[in-house]
Amino acid sequence: MGLGDGQSLPGRVALRLDPSLITRLTSNMIVVLVSGTNGKTTTTALVAAGLREAGGTITNSGGANMTGGLASSLAEATPDIAETRFAALEVDEIYLTAVAEMVAPAVFVLMNLSRDQLDRTSEVRRIAERWRLLVDEMPLTKVVANCDDPLVCYAASASESVIWVAAGISWTDDAIGCPVCGGEIVFSSGSWACGCGFCRPEPSWKLGADQTIEFPDGRIKVNPRLPGSFNLRNSLTALASCSAAGVPPSTAVTGVEAVSAVSGRFARYQIGSGTDAEVMLSLAKNPAGWSELVGMVDLIATDSALVIGLNAKIADGRDPSWIWDVPFDVFSGRSVIVTGERCLDLAVRLKYAGVGPLVVQDVYSALVVASKWSKQVVLLANYTCFQEARKALESPLAARHDGSARIVHLVGELRRWRNLSRTNGS
Ligand SMILES: [Zn+2]
Repeated sequence: MGLGDGQSLPGRVALRLDPSLITRLTSNMIVVLVSGTNGKTTTTALVAAGLREAGGTITNSGGANMTGGLASSLAEATPDIAETRFAALEVDEIYLTAVAEMVAPAVFVLMNLSRDQLDRTSEVRRIAERWRLLVDEMPLTKVVANCDDPLVCYAASASESVIWVAAGISWTDDAIGCPVCGGEIVFSSGSWACGCGFCRPEPSWKLGADQTIEFPDGRIKVNPRLPGSFNLRNSLTALASCSAAGVPPSTAVTGVEAVSAVSGRFARYQIGSGTDAEVMLSLAKNPAGWSELVGMVDLIATDSALVIGLNAKIADGRDPSWIWDVPFDVFSGRSVIVTGERCLDLAVRLKYAGVGPLVVQDVYSALVVASKWSKQVVLLANYTCFQEARKALESPLAARHDGSARIVHLVGELRRWRNLSRTNGS
């Protein structure tokens, strides 16, 4: 994500004029700060929905998760600030210390730490060190931490009031070196340990059978409208976080279950007018996020046509070589369209995964073609490709045209692909 997405210019200016802005706006609120590499936008939305069941809540939806963006989000909510009891704020991993010093949070929610796009934020260990110092310096702040992520455990264990949540880890490649001794962490049967004694803490919040959440003084069934097992785990984290902020699961669960889309993620759109074809949008930005999505789609969208989109703009990270780390093999034998400005990189990657995709560079056209294969379409895309799809689907032109306006473009694409295949001798 580029600077423009998490930092807002008016917000930064406001902070320059009044450095205490964020502090003043949140001074009477119970503040929950949510951070981590993956799932923080969704989890923040779930936390906010849960807290809202108990009182006025403000949040920074839309990914404005650095100091400037936060100042803007809070300032926009100003008229309601007198009635606001809670703030659920998503914070960029790197900005957590700066924001925490401004808002004196009641709760930190530390989700996971993994490598982001290859050319950005590679220093996950340094972030873990910073978080560790932070929770140590703020002993009054409760820490809700994911016990399945060794780097998060390393950071959180410096606090004396940790609530361990079994929120899972889908990507262990970045966490194999022990942050305590440098030795090797071994993951097996849902746990992990290092020879030095550093090992997975016992969680007090975890998933039981049949979507039940078990916590220290009870259990509750949760039916999130958001799809996928990772959203069940995000709901678990959200309920633990609400509880740490003083809102019991029996109250918060109503709000958590009602969330159906988060800034377009998991939102469903009709494709064209007069059709009953529908697409669900999903977004991932790095190998860990993609692994989650690929697993979700493989499980819940077995009859859907798949469109996979990849751009490599600055906000996405310029180097898309991480696609080789994503387990696309699960789509072997399925009908897949690849799209986006790096669709050919994806096509090669998928070919090696045993998938023979159709290439349609324009994302809206790709969705229209997919809707001819199945009435249910799922788009997996990285950041700017996801935004392009959302914009196209929300534009009135898309609703009027059933894609016919794009057919000319599409035919050109098919011809291009055929020529390319021919020159490749395949
Ligand atoms: Zn160790």
